[in-house]
Amino acid sequence: MDYDVEKAKRLIEEREEIDRQLVAIFSGGASKARAAQKCSKCGKEGHTARTCTDAEGGGVSA
Ligand SMILES: [Zn+2]
Repeated sequence: MDYDVEKAKRLIEEREEIDRQLVAIFSGGASKARAAQKCSKCGKEGHTARTCTDAEGGGVSA
């Protein structure tokens, strides 16, 4: 059985390039879609953990 190593390398390089483009798309889209931000502290939408006011009470447990 012959392994087409060169083709495999090319495909891997293509996949990595696609991954880079996907990361660029998602990271760029995330910065544009600020309206859909979700807080990681309380889980509520509309603000982020940085601007969360619920955490100041200290009663939030995940
Ligand atoms: Zn919050």
